[in-house]
Amino acid sequence: MNRKIASRKLKSRCICCNKSFGKGDVYYHKRVVFQEFGEIIAYEYIVCARCKYVNERQSERQKRFIESGKCHHPITDVIWTTIAGEDYVKEPSHTECCICGKHV
Ligand SMILES: [Zn+2]
Ligand SMILES: [Zn+2]
Repeated sequence: MNRKIASRKLKSRCICCNKSFGKGDVYYHKRVVFQEFGEIIAYEYIVCARCKYVNERQSERQKRFIESGKCHHPITDVIWTTIAGEDYVKEPSHTECCICGKHV
């Protein structure tokens, strides 16, 4: 996630809180690329510094929960990873817990 400063008023708003950005405001830019049903999907979004901070606090809390070893992995999901040498082609890699991210 790249930290940027708006050089002019931005058309996009914060994806979390819908805050708009004026000239000189700090924002964070993220580009996401993935493949779904054979189509390559790329999108970009921006978040404000406050939402980024809140998200980080939440993931910090989540990290502590995981480290405490209390997760019983109630929800699992198959994780797809990019095939080596291919940019967007993916194959199923392993199953992991949606909550703590452990391989199960
Ligand atoms: Zn925000
Ligand atoms: Zn788990």
